[in-house]
Amino acid sequence: MTTPSPSSLVPVSLIEGDGIGPEIAAATVRAIDTIGGRIRWERVPAGMNAITTAGDPVPKATLDSIETNQLALKGPLATPSGGGHRSVNVALRQHFDLYANVRPAKTIPGVPCRYDNVDLIIVRENTEDLYAGIEHYIDSRRSAAESIAVITRHGSERVITYAFEYARKHGRKRVTLVHKANILKMTNGLFLDVGKELAKKYADIAFDDMIVDATAMKMVVSPERFDVIVTMNLFGDILSDLAAGLVGGLGVAPASNIGASIAPGRDWPCAIFEAVHGTAPDIAGKGIANPTGLMLSAAMLLDHIDQRDVAERLRKGVFAALADPASRTGDLGGTANTQKFTDAVIAAAQR
Ligand code: ATP
Repeated sequence: MTTPSPSSLVPVSLIEGDGIGPEIAAATVRAIDTIGGRIRWERVPAGMNAITTAGDPVPKATLDSIETNQLALKGPLATPSGGGHRSVNVALRQHFDLYANVRPAKTIPGVPCRYDNVDLIIVRENTEDLYAGIEHYIDSRRSAAESIAVITRHGSERVITYAFEYARKHGRKRVTLVHKANILKMTNGLFLDVGKELAKKYADIAFDDMIVDATAMKMVVSPERFDVIVTMNLFGDILSDLAAGLVGGLGVAPASNIGASIAPGRDWPCAIFEAVHGTAPDIAGKGIANPTGLMLSAAMLLDHIDQRDVAERLRKGVFAALADPASRTGDLGGTANTQKFTDAVIAAAQR
């Protein structure tokens, strides 16, 4: 493998995170650097470790680094409780207007699950809906509370467009828009209308829509029917965890959060890639964590910056390492540690 020249390297902000974060980040960086990734990693703090070192879970230097690079890979973060500290994920989402959360769910041989044929993507709107934060009690006795869902044409257009563009770029055949427009006629009706309108511009991609309750049932009965699902914030939150459950849980799931802005000189929008699992404090520091979730998130990052050859090699390596009982980590019933798993990923990626 030839060493890439420094000028060809793409700078990426690396948030190692808390708990097992530093271990799985080190494994992921080693794998990517060894198999020919053209990335310059810029380590920046966030989470509990950043409270200790910088007094803030999201230090300004971290935001500045992501602002400049427009790209971040993020390990799991412990949520600071009390003390008035802000949630890192909310802060990042708001600061960079990360409007699309993308969660692939694919059956992986070697990862125990109930299905052998799932391969779907959930694109969730990440800024609107009931998460707009407009809630109040109607009186001081708290006899009732109200929450307002906000759906805008602009918000709907950008996330549905992203879903169609993603489908096109990744050779996907169908986009299914999930909603509850039979009851929520204006908010969900608007989202559905925008989807139908945009579908006319993507004649090469099949389009259909489905009520959310029917979707939940069909995802369990015949998940292979789905390709790309696009939906609003609350339904997306629930369905993306449902989808992860179809393929073995959150432990190996990757995710990306896509922003709206494209910085000068960049060909891609701002995006943050992250493992979905938590910090696993029970095994932190033991060298036995499974880096699959972060590695597959990094593969999405490599796709995003058009290093698709490296992304494919990395996925090939991860899938091969998971398929071999000798290189599986303890969470998947194996005995390999993080280093052994990573060695197997690298070896298989280079074959
Ligand atoms: P948090 O409070 O950050 O959500 P948690 O321990 O409550 O952490 P997870 O981190 O998701 O939740 O962990 C749930 C279980 O799965 C734990 O037993 C943990 O050790 C295990 N686990 C999670 N991620 C991994 C991983 N990448 N490798 C190995 N085990 C993991």
